[in-house]
Amino acid sequence: MKAAVLWERRAPLVIEDLDLADPAPGEARVRIVASGVCHSDLHHIQRESWVAPPFVPGHEAAGVVEAVGEGVTRVRPGDRVVSAFGVRCGECFFCQRGQPYLCATPYPTHVRLRRGDQAVTPLLNVGSFAERANLDARNLVVLPDDMPLEPAALIACGVTTGIGAVITTARVEPGASVAVIGLGGVGLNVVQGAVLAGAARIIAVDLVPYKLELAREFGATHLIDAREGDPVERVKQLTGGWGADYAFEVIGNPATIAQAYEATRKGGVAVVVGVAPEEATVAINAVGMMRTGKTLVGCNYGSVRPAIDFPRYVDLYRHGRIKLDELISRRFALDEANEAFAAMERGEVARGVIVFE
Ligand SMILES: [Zn+2]
Ligand SMILES: [Zn+2]
Repeated sequence: MKAAVLWERRAPLVIEDLDLADPAPGEARVRIVASGVCHSDLHHIQRESWVAPPFVPGHEAAGVVEAVGEGVTRVRPGDRVVSAFGVRCGECFFCQRGQPYLCATPYPTHVRLRRGDQAVTPLLNVGSFAERANLDARNLVVLPDDMPLEPAALIACGVTTGIGAVITTARVEPGASVAVIGLGGVGLNVVQGAVLAGAARIIAVDLVPYKLELAREFGATHLIDAREGDPVERVKQLTGGWGADYAFEVIGNPATIAQAYEATRKGGVAVVVGVAPEEATVAINAVGMMRTGKTLVGCNYGSVRPAIDFPRYVDLYRHGRIKLDELISRRFALDEANEAFAAMERGEVARGVIVFE
């Protein structure tokens, strides 16, 4: 089975022929049809992270179930599925409190993938830059027959993280003003989440003109090119001098997290969506936190509950209420995986998608 493998941090991915084990109890073997290319994959490739190489990247996947392991009843061979990433055990402190995106159960350690004697880790419990993957059936949501798999794949991460940040984490209300700093695949979904929530003013901030134009297509009402002056001041000018009701940071950079906080009005909510480097810290004026009464909130994976939220996003797409096809700017074959990341780094794509024959 062909898969893209990262053998060493910051090295190019190598297409390898890997052995895939039979699905373990609770797992389904899924033939991957489409896998989105996400910045978090790139973080694990380039930064020191908690996932040691060798690993197979890819965590935004849709495909078709081929076989199931012992005890799996929620999916059957032939089912078309989208997979959440991570672990959601259903039993831990957090899962029992309806916060499965915070699940505390460790990642499984049994070997699913190997090349010879070398075990290879599927990144984030998915590893979908591969023709097939054994996936935890608890992460799978069955798709309706008329839902195409390429846009469905995007629901697995970017769409859910971005829209979920707005409607589930922050609960933006109609008429609100929203600033979005960073307009990658997730940031554009924050923009369309704000449209969905009925936000009146949606202020999109980025350094790349192409992404600003995309944000306009996704529903931004105001664009700020951050190369042309302090974006915090510009957001304030556009919101009566006070700042936005909600500001979303979708980059993962301490400086832009501080900007999102500063661009939020007194009593407003700043939401950290971006994935910052492991050791990074944010400097925020301490007494200001008290005086301004602002809320600074972290958002993990759009606070997703896949069984509830994935079908909602499918339905919103099928009724033309959210854009998914428009997110896909380029398709790549598996052996073009390195080029897919390069295009993302150059800011050329909203979302690239690896598609399989
Ligand atoms: Zn992702
Ligand atoms: Zn759990």
